Amino acid sequence: MHNEPYLLTPGPLTTSLSVKQAMLRDWGSWDGDFNQITADICQDLLTLANARQTHVCVPLQGSGTYVVEAVFATLLGNNSKTLVLMNGAYGQRAAALLQRMGKPYVTLDKGDYLPPLPQEVDDLLRQDPQITHVVVIHCETSSGILNPVESIAAVVAAHGRELIIDSMSAFGALPVDATELPFTALVSSANKCLEGVPGFGFALIRESALQSCEGQSASLSLDLYDQWRYMQKTGQWRFTPPTHVVAAFHQALHEYQQEGGQPARLQRYSRNRDRLVAGMRALGFRTLLEDTWLSPIIITFLSPDDPAFSFMPFYQQMKARGFLIYPGKLTQVESFRLGCIGQLFDPQIDAVLDAVAESCSALGLTSLHPPRAVSL
Ligand SMILES: *Cc1c(COP(=O)(O)O)cnc(C)c1O
Repeated sequence: MHNEPYLLTPGPLTTSLSVKQAMLRDWGSWDGDFNQITADICQDLLTLANARQTHVCVPLQGSGTYVVEAVFATLLGNNSKTLVLMNGAYGQRAAALLQRMGKPYVTLDKGDYLPPLPQEVDDLLRQDPQITHVVVIHCETSSGILNPVESIAAVVAAHGRELIIDSMSAFGALPVDATELPFTALVSSANKCLEGVPGFGFALIRESALQSCEGQSASLSLDLYDQWRYMQKTGQWRFTPPTHVVAAFHQALHEYQQEGGQPARLQRYSRNRDRLVAGMRALGFRTLLEDTWLSPIIITFLSPDDPAFSFMPFYQQMKARGFLIYPGKLTQVESFRLGCIGQLFDPQIDAVLDAVAESCSALGLTSLHPPRAVSL
């Protein structure tokens, strides 16, 4: 199967052959067999978050952003005010969604790579009793930083406010236990750490919060209350489901359990990260973040200072060796990113490191160190 490139990108990512093969059958969207698959998936996702007693799972067609937007549209009423904790592109996107939707919000903007701190959130919530909701990005995929969601959740709960977690690129790999991590909604999608293909996302929503949201969404298609109620009544998705993607995700969840579930996946991704970071540092590269903030999802490396380096030629060299890498998403310094997630194991990581070394010599790079001026 592997004359196609490996994806070192945080979703779409490299999926197993059996996940791809699960898409070779056509399903009727009204059919009981397909409805059972949807129901199984929702139960599995709730179980994974230890949320069966408190939350419901609402899947939605589209990419992850559609679900974030639907959560905002459904849960945030006219009297809501949202605090968005921003430290990268996905926090900025959350704020952009609220802006477009005309929902009141304020931000804590930590720039490109610093984490929002629980003490800062505590201060902001103390100062502003109008804030009803807080949005935090679990792993900010633009830098790869793992934000301290547990301690932030505790602060938000202590103030009696509601937490919305964008756990898109973390859920499935990082532990989430709704009985210990209080959240009103958590969003993720099929094509990240659960290793399905793109086409839908899902929200785990506290049932008591969703119950009061009838008619609140100004959008028909992005209404998670209606999607939930319709699915409860009929077992079906409200509009055409991405049937093949759902079937593939069902297979992906099966393989996830076989691998050993969340602890095993975290272990494999962490091992990928450690191997990748050690190998890249041995070549002379530097990571953007200190070790404590490095997620097992995606790593940002600073681009070499050498004028012979630029991203696109490097990308082409890597692609010729079978790996698709990801550009950086920082505003201040040049960087690129390598993902640790998907069907990647030791042999692939070792091959990535060989490909990086070969690509650098093919480009005639003499030094892989970032510019001296970059001190983060
Ligand atoms: C992938 C991702 C999203 C959703 O992006 P889509 O392109 O809409 O799937 C949102 N937040 C984070 C943190 C992500 O990594």
